Amino acid sequence: MRTVYNFSAGPAMMPEPVLTRAAEEMLDYRGTGMSVMEMSHRSKQYDAIFQSVKASLREIMGIPQTHQILFIQGGATLQFSMVAMNLLKTSADYVITGEFSGKAAKEAARLGKTRIAADMASCGHTRIPSQSELDLDPSADYVHICTNNTIFGTTWNYVPQTGGVPLVTDMSSSILSEPVDVSKYGLIYAGAQKNMGPAGLAVVILREDLAVPNPALPGYLSYAAQLKGDSMINTPPTYGIYLLGLVLDWVRDMGGLEHMKRYNTQKAALLYDVLDASSLFKSGVDKSCRSMMNVVFSTGDAELDDKFVKEAAASGFVTLKGHRSVGGMRASIYNAMPMEGVEKLAQFMRDFERKA
Ligand code: PMP
Repeated sequence: MRTVYNFSAGPAMMPEPVLTRAAEEMLDYRGTGMSVMEMSHRSKQYDAIFQSVKASLREIMGIPQTHQILFIQGGATLQFSMVAMNLLKTSADYVITGEFSGKAAKEAARLGKTRIAADMASCGHTRIPSQSELDLDPSADYVHICTNNTIFGTTWNYVPQTGGVPLVTDMSSSILSEPVDVSKYGLIYAGAQKNMGPAGLAVVILREDLAVPNPALPGYLSYAAQLKGDSMINTPPTYGIYLLGLVLDWVRDMGGLEHMKRYNTQKAALLYDVLDASSLFKSGVDKSCRSMMNVVFSTGDAELDDKFVKEAAASGFVTLKGHRSVGGMRASIYNAMPMEGVEKLAQFMRDFERKA
């Protein structure tokens, strides 16, 4: 039984039915007499799991036939480099809207020419640039964005127009939280440890024509080689992929991504309503860019923030401390956080303010 609501930014809460099912199948996966962890990745049993996870992801995200799915290790961080290694030929545009898009740009700059199409550090990353603020190079190899900014709590509320230049996005902290028109992207990548499963797995969804073979690249780091080997050029993170399959079954049972969006919108509104009505808690995020996944706030007083985090933990609301680079508090409310957890946190915040 769970004893806390875990607001961690990732690794984060998993849906309870997923954990229960994984526990039930732990020792004997559906009559095979072994755990999924013990199966050869080349076995018939594991291949059936692997192919069905890919099919589920394709179905749930509506991934068109033009795009393929890869499972890769190294987290989202390796994708900062892999994207550039594979796609950066002449010059790439990066939009900086927070810590991780900044890191992605830095990694790419080691490998080739990058341009910064916008850098929202100038406003403390409190908002996303508008289309007209993007200084895009029409001949860039790709434009890179980060859909949801885990640390600053902002999110793109539109898909930027790039004039045919492939759009690459880091969707680590929002994938599976709402429907996405995959056809608008050249490449989507995400570390699994927020909305998809355990850490150790990154999912890449890419337009097949962007995976151009390059013999100069190490095989593991080549999208073309990974596609050719169906993510099996070495041992993939087999158990993480299986858990992603259970998460996808759960998303489907819940009603798919349309349902997740409604549910996540309602959950986030509970917290933003508290912030809007509060004279104690503040959110610096522009209302048009508020994240549904990471709600960032503070009292403006570091000691009081600390008191809030401690008292919240004592009441069963854990991991609410904000990222070390911004301080304050952050409630990460990914798909698996139940409405009840958010309602109770909202009530705790109101009670804390009354007593402060
Ligand atoms: N991008 C985003 C948006 C993230 O939130 C994170 C991790 N919190 C990363 C990238 C880095 O992911 P990983 O640890 O899987 O490399």
